[in-house]
Amino acid sequence: MRDPRYDLLFEPLKIGPVTAKNRFFQVPHCNGMGHAMPLAHAAMREVKAEGGWAVVSTEECEIHPSGDLTPYVEARLWDDRDIPALALMCDKVHAHGALAALELTHNGPTASNLYSREVLIAPSHQPTKYGYPHQARAMTLHDIREYRRWHREAAIRGKRAGMDIIYVYAAHDLSLPMHFLQRRRNQRSDAYGGSLENRVRLLREVIEDTKDAVGDTCAVALRFATEEGLGPGGVELVEAQDIVGMLAELPDLWDVNLAAWYNDSVPSRFAAEGAQEPFIDFVKKTTTKPVVGVGRFTSPDTMVSQIKRGVLDMIGCARPSIADPFLPRKIEEGRIDDIRECIGCNICVSGDMTISPIRCTQNPTMGEEWRKGWHPERIAPARTPARVLVVGAGPAGLEAARALGQRGYNVSLAEARKELGGRITRESRLPGLAEWARVRDWRVGQIHKLANVAIYLDSALTAQDVLDFGAEHVVIATGCHWRRDGFGRSHGFAMADFADNARVHTPDDLMDGRLPEGRVVVFDDDGYYHASVAAELLRSRGCDVIHLTPEDSLAPWTLNTLDYRHVRKRMAHLGIEALVSHDIVGYAGTTLTVEDVWTNRQRELACDAVVTVTARLPDDGPYQELCRREAEWSEAGIRSLRCIGDAEAPGLIVHAVYAGHRYARDLEEPLADNVPFRRHFHTTS
Ligand code: ADP
Ligand code: SF4
Repeated sequence: MRDPRYDLLFEPLKIGPVTAKNRFFQVPHCNGMGHAMPLAHAAMREVKAEGGWAVVSTEECEIHPSGDLTPYVEARLWDDRDIPALALMCDKVHAHGALAALELTHNGPTASNLYSREVLIAPSHQPTKYGYPHQARAMTLHDIREYRRWHREAAIRGKRAGMDIIYVYAAHDLSLPMHFLQRRRNQRSDAYGGSLENRVRLLREVIEDTKDAVGDTCAVALRFATEEGLGPGGVELVEAQDIVGMLAELPDLWDVNLAAWYNDSVPSRFAAEGAQEPFIDFVKKTTTKPVVGVGRFTSPDTMVSQIKRGVLDMIGCARPSIADPFLPRKIEEGRIDDIRECIGCNICVSGDMTISPIRCTQNPTMGEEWRKGWHPERIAPARTPARVLVVGAGPAGLEAARALGQRGYNVSLAEARKELGGRITRESRLPGLAEWARVRDWRVGQIHKLANVAIYLDSALTAQDVLDFGAEHVVIATGCHWRRDGFGRSHGFAMADFADNARVHTPDDLMDGRLPEGRVVVFDDDGYYHASVAAELLRSRGCDVIHLTPEDSLAPWTLNTLDYRHVRKRMAHLGIEALVSHDIVGYAGTTLTVEDVWTNRQRELACDAVVTVTARLPDDGPYQELCRREAEWSEAGIRSLRCIGDAEAPGLIVHAVYAGHRYARDLEEPLADNVPFRRHFHTTS
């Protein structure tokens, strides 16, 4: 059972009028489901409560149509008709003895009102945050009174829905009480602008309003950003210390972090566990109220240390609770090895950013709790004791083997290399990606506990080997390789100058240790992390590096994972030159000819080598041959053959893990003909 060192984490804690059963606090996090998919949302939160979190929070919850966040799908409490959707969540969270928390927000100039068509409001006249070409108007004193009324009424609706903790939100540069604090957003000359006391006034009033409205039975939490990293125009640590001092005992709980979101949920490539501590550790010294904070905490030792050293009272987690909703239960049950640690890739964030249900690289069941009935810990037992051969031990093969093993199948996992992990093992050796190895390590650790999964390393199987093996089900997860010929989004045909050119390298070459020297152009037609990681690697080995892309910005997809700003800063810091809106049109000797995609003006660059990051091709040879030899299957005893993961269609690690999991879930199960999941439908009333 539980290690006594971790007892501290399971002590109850009073938060105003309510009591948390332990110190694990799932802080608010977006999920791309929100008000549009309330059943899916409630089921996702329920799994957290079942997994032992004492507090389970919503995401941002809009309080009024003038703070409409469209196209982003968050929670909503515009009027009483929104109550049942959130009541669903509260009932499910309460069923497991957890508290439900609601993060109320009005995003002022950081809303969109694209749906409501209301005029945006802000402390002062100003442009909107997200680039919409219209402005927000300055709030009148009447508007401020109205805003306070909306917040108060939403708090009461939250209480009626069953919420135990109601948040006042002043973080992430995303809410009016924070916008009033910021000098750059608040240029008022009345009682709400100018001096710090004036800029804090609205925040103080809203906390008091909320306590007055619901504080008899609900705790009132304040989510507060202590630093924005923007200098005196934003909230700065020195001023934040004064603000915490001014409001110290007013809220029932302080939830403190950094703004904006990209400084809060920093990818593991750019920040380690507990990185916020220097910015938030003063809070507990300033208030007697409980303090919760985040830091992508997955180690119970770190958590205990945070509490013992007086940094935090409660361990706040968003991403670690997504990667492993059962994290608290596993610590409680002494199952530390079973914790599926977040890798800090921020694919979960990309769900919100792309307005689609949340996905997680480590936890393939995230977002599938309701629509597919998938549970992160439980899986249906196998219908037969069939033998299954999994070929390839990358993320797809490892997850397939693990989940098939959990179902009770007789599993053989064959891997060509002498080590497990496929692309995980290779990519996690690149700069900044070490934590990604957790995708492999968790699965290997689980497989080692299963007597019915056998691993064969150094076993490159041919189609004939598969036929000879005698498994009833075969799943090919043999991965892919990077193309060398420049084919990709910008080049629908291979580039003649790249063929048989020893100066052209791929990411596979780099991972295999074949590194170019001198002046290197990294050609990024992919848009995610591969090219900037390659550039960083080459720079660290002394190359002069140009990161070139036909896109108008470097690594545009990294905006979806909050990497973008950190990538740009690191590239700039390392002296890696950015060349955007340029394509490669020729490469002869050491002369690279590039073309501006808008002016078509060409110029030549001295270039000792090119790393081409464009597209990949499946390594599906054994699968294709087995398809050709289908007539031989029945004699070999093969009843089914599938190809999954990068061998089917190269993608992200999250796609490969999902593919492996889905294969294992579906094997020998009756499947829906058309839509393989439940959907939400609007009624006509
Ligand atoms: P995915 O992301 O789809 O899991 P990876 O490339 O990470 O793909 O993993 C594929 C794994 O399959 C690699 O470790 C590779 O060495 C292994 N592999 C490729 N071909 C064979 C084969 N014929 N037999 C066994 N293993 C193979
Ligand atoms: Fe962590 Fe990545 Fe999962 Fe997000 S998607 S919770 S960052 S492992």
